[in-house]
Amino acid sequence: MQPRIKDSYKNKILAGARGHVNDGPLSSMLATWMDGDDKMPNWLGLDRLTFRKLVRFQFPTLTMRKFRPAQRGLEVDRAMEWGDLKRYLLKNRAWKCASEVWIAEMISSACMGQNHLWQDLGLQNRTELTALMENNFPKMAKRNIHNMKWKKFIYRDLCQMEGIYVCRSPSCEVCVDYDECFGPEE
Ligand code: SF4
Repeated sequence: MQPRIKDSYKNKILAGARGHVNDGPLSSMLATWMDGDDKMPNWLGLDRLTFRKLVRFQFPTLTMRKFRPAQRGLEVDRAMEWGDLKRYLLKNRAWKCASEVWIAEMISSACMGQNHLWQDLGLQNRTELTALMENNFPKMAKRNIHNMKWKKFIYRDLCQMEGIYVCRSPSCEVCVDYDECFGPEE
């Protein structure tokens, strides 16, 4: 069970927001990370400079001193996978905001975690993640017509785009892995 996001952190971050559709989810991620949650690597999976750019862009009046790194780097041996995920997400970007690139990098980092994607990102719930996907990667989000778990969907969609069939069963209805792919993400 995901601990509740500290309202005091989230409110402080939101007070410095630029007034954009990504303010809510990004403030959740930052608040979770500031609260010491170490599911995400250092600087939310970005390099330090990019992280600063993101915060300055999205929360222009927020004081950077409040942030502290989680002391965990990205897994080096998964760098290729990380790059594939980022390219896949960017092929599906909305082209409406610069933050889509940074969000693609953060999602790629969170995909390497062990929990549901919204939990690894430090979001409040799955609804917040779905909105993040729809606003930033709409083409991909539209393809998730059966409301598959997001992490499962991303890997499956990426594999299918590259011509790799990863499922052991011809259809989801008769698949022994059904519960792994569908159902509540709580
Ligand atoms: S339920 Fe089975 S067939 Fe359907 S996507 Fe998941 S693994 Fe593939």
